[in-house]
Amino acid sequence: MGALHLAYANQTPSDPEIKGGGGGGGGKDFAEFAHRIYQDDRADADARRLLLAFAYVITMEPTDTAKEQFANLRKALGRDDRHRYTDPLRELIEHDRPRYVPPDERPGGYDPSKRRCVGPRLRPYKERPYKAEQMSLPARVEQNKRDAEDFRNTENVCGAPGKDRVLEKLPGTGWYRWHWFCQRHRDHAIRVERQVKAQNEAAPAPIPNAGGLMPCYFEADWVRLYRHYTWDTWEPPVYGVRADDWPIPGKQPVPQRARLRLVIGGELEDA
Ligand SMILES: [Zn+2]
Repeated sequence: MGALHLAYANQTPSDPEIKGGGGGGGGKDFAEFAHRIYQDDRADADARRLLLAFAYVITMEPTDTAKEQFANLRKALGRDDRHRYTDPLRELIEHDRPRYVPPDERPGGYDPSKRRCVGPRLRPYKERPYKAEQMSLPARVEQNKRDAEDFRNTENVCGAPGKDRVLEKLPGTGWYRWHWFCQRHRDHAIRVERQVKAQNEAAPAPIPNAGGLMPCYFEADWVRLYRHYTWDTWEPPVYGVRADDWPIPGKQPVPQRARLRLVIGGELEDA
């Protein structure tokens, strides 16, 4: 199998830093890239690691051999002795795949506090059945205060561990979230599901809010590349693969930036 060809090709003429560099800027171009990457608030540690490695290989180690370029990329990423049997390149590219991540599925994984029943609370919540007469007065006052401030009481929700979940899509953005319900609130869940049905059907595809940074810096057949490093059936968001192109509801759009081009020659890297 062939290899993914990374080539230092076309530069966007509007960028004053790169213009006239002629493609051999080396350290100067890398410094420019590194600066932009470190200024990019969207890039977390993993994204920075990947972007910097790409930038380094393209600007500092120009080569026409696709195989060598990919080897350089893996070398630039370095070994990770803690995860000896995983492929850092694959994981980092998968991490950058453009997608929508709902609020309770953000990195950090499963958060049980986000999966509490939001059904209506009937009786005020008490932390545990305690015998008030066995507590000192100050302790009792403290406990009453804690109970009063508990989210189950302030938000008037059940708060039991969620069992059933109902999807709600927002009309403008297609962003979605899950509403959780315990077994006792199953009827309520069914009612809510009926209520959001029309809204969900009319909602657009979700605007992506994660990944998509590599295409902001380099140009390539990204759909093919993401697909190669994730799964065959991966489909790009309808808003495109580039995070710069995604609308950010309620915020200023990220200004367009000049890019180096990264050209895929022929085959993808042997996986
Ligand atoms: Zn409940």
